[in-house]
Amino acid sequence: MKGVTVRSYPFSAVVGMDDMALALSLCAVSPAIGGVLVRGEKGTAKSTTVRALTALLPPVEVVPGCRFSCDPGTVDPQCPDGPHPGAPPSSTRPARLVELPVGASEDRVLGALHLERALSEGVTSYDPGLLAAAHRGLLYVDEVNLLHDHLVDVLLDAAAMGRATVEREGVSVTHAARFVLVGTMNPEEGELRPQLLDRFGLTVEVAASRDPQVRAEVMRRRLAYEADPEGFAARYAEADAALGARVAQARALLPTVRLDDDMLVRIAALCAAAEVDGMRADLVIARTALAHAAWCGRTGVSAGDVRVAARLALPHRRRRNPFDPPQQDQADLDRALTEAGLDEPPPPADEPEPPSDGPPDGPPDDPDDGPDGPTDGGGPGGSGPDQPDDGRPYRQRPAAEQNGEPATAPPPATPVPAGAPYRARLLRVTGTGAGTAGRRSAALTTTGRTVGEERPTAGVTGRPHLVATLRAAAPHQRARGRRGPGLLVRPADVRLPVRQGRESNLILFCLDASGSMGARQRVGAVKAAVLSLLLDAYQRRDKVGLVTFRAAGAELALPPTASVDVAAARLEALPTGGRTPLAEGLLRAREVLRVERIRDPRRRPLLVVVTDGRATSGPDAVPRARHVARLLAADGTPAVVVDCEQGRIRMRLAADLAAVLGGEHLPLEGVAADALAHAVRTRTATRPGSEAA
Ligand SMILES: [Zn+2]
Repeated sequence: MKGVTVRSYPFSAVVGMDDMALALSLCAVSPAIGGVLVRGEKGTAKSTTVRALTALLPPVEVVPGCRFSCDPGTVDPQCPDGPHPGAPPSSTRPARLVELPVGASEDRVLGALHLERALSEGVTSYDPGLLAAAHRGLLYVDEVNLLHDHLVDVLLDAAAMGRATVEREGVSVTHAARFVLVGTMNPEEGELRPQLLDRFGLTVEVAASRDPQVRAEVMRRRLAYEADPEGFAARYAEADAALGARVAQARALLPTVRLDDDMLVRIAALCAAAEVDGMRADLVIARTALAHAAWCGRTGVSAGDVRVAARLALPHRRRRNPFDPPQQDQADLDRALTEAGLDEPPPPADEPEPPSDGPPDGPPDDPDDGPDGPTDGGGPGGSGPDQPDDGRPYRQRPAAEQNGEPATAPPPATPVPAGAPYRARLLRVTGTGAGTAGRRSAALTTTGRTVGEERPTAGVTGRPHLVATLRAAAPHQRARGRRGPGLLVRPADVRLPVRQGRESNLILFCLDASGSMGARQRVGAVKAAVLSLLLDAYQRRDKVGLVTFRAAGAELALPPTASVDVAAARLEALPTGGRTPLAEGLLRAREVLRVERIRDPRRRPLLVVVTDGRATSGPDAVPRARHVARLLAADGTPAVVVDCEQGRIRMRLAADLAAVLGGEHLPLEGVAADALAHAVRTRTATRPGSEAA
């Protein structure tokens, strides 16, 4: 709260975010937990709460002048600002929260090495990046699910090594980078990649309260804050200071907290019963339980501590299909807790009730509750001492609300469930694009294989092309008066590589849901094929959209989005039957593609038409469909037709459609990457949800 964050919203004034506040506080107590991922809709003060946490973090002891925040007690032997003397001086600075923008350049994150100085003066000149700034503090990524792929890799590396390393053409700099990673995201905008999800120790879901009392209190405080930020902050300063003191006390207590062997075994049993992957969950739960005991001022880990830890650490770790939102039913958790012998209610005496993790009446000495309205009684989040130890439901809203629309709402006719997804063949857009980095079609990108060189257009960022740079500098050496061995390199000599990598695309499905598509089993197989292609799109970071047509007309079932989960849910709930308005479906798709070209011009689309091609809406249905297909071809739309025709007498209309579109024709069975093996494995109907691709 000193320095950078004078006017930030006070942590203790946040209402109704109990689990989030608790998870953040526990990570402040024990950074080894590995950070917090906060999932929730827009407008739930996620970012405000994260930023407010800074005020609670104890100040950091550093070597003065070291840009890499060396700890005077244990300096980094490889510190670029070192070597530091044996007993370096020491000073304190406030803890930092560093924000990492999702589209930041690699230089900004890792730091920039200045190659021209290295070449001409033999000096390694390095500007620290955000990871250096975040060392021993917090690194915060808002919209972390939209973080660019190359930065995800950088983050994963740093998290694994505890260091950041920059290498440019043989020159390398490395420094310590240990931080608490905090991410916030809106799941409607797409899920997180599993590897990154796994790196977060804890996950919490937040949702705006449905309780008018709580909502009123949120508004009251927000308005008071906006009217007078300084005064508002001052009113909560004492409560924040008390929470800060509690963090410091818990940190000091943590090394003395015991986790006895019996409890350790129960944690292992819990994780085994919950069917999590690997061992990370066990460790995170142990660390979180230790931190929670310290947070409550105890020196032994109780079953209650483990229950709280499980609630925060398990939901996103269950082995699952990538389409499923990372959550676990309360029933599953309860069952696992029971199996591990952790479900008995806590003996009241065992738990000196933690003075809550959050809001004003939390802090031990309970100041005055904040002048703009005590919140007791009504039980807005602010008042609840963290009811944690009884394994309360940690899902605050039903899964059906997750995506704003109930995924499970049954349409009039019971939709046919999709068959199990499988690994799909890679469908590519031909030619070379320039879209957002991804894993599908060839493109000029910021990462990838070097295929050429260019002069930088605005400042040198990224790795220079060394050979090309030297080639540019060489002819000028005499004119520049070079005497010694060092090459005289000027900024104008620097050349950047032109790289070819892979881009992500927009995969727009145009799905025939009419009656001609066949019996239930066939529809299940068609849905499984689309589901498999969706799964593939998820892994390749594509945007996906879904147009469906049946009976009376075409519908945009899902506007282009990065959220494959939503697409999968829509697909599952899709009713089928009726006539086949193929032309209308294609027209609707064409309109969607036109709008997307305006919104995101660099992203190349791939239209995937899934149909048997039997247009049946009106006498001229087939010629009309061919007409629209010709328009799409004239637009230059890359297309694939997945042919769903079956039976002894084939009309080959889908093949004909593919020809008119100028696209690829792919039989339904050819969607599987390994069609033969798939045919052997294929089982009927329902999606067990465990068959990974
Ligand atoms: Zn240092």
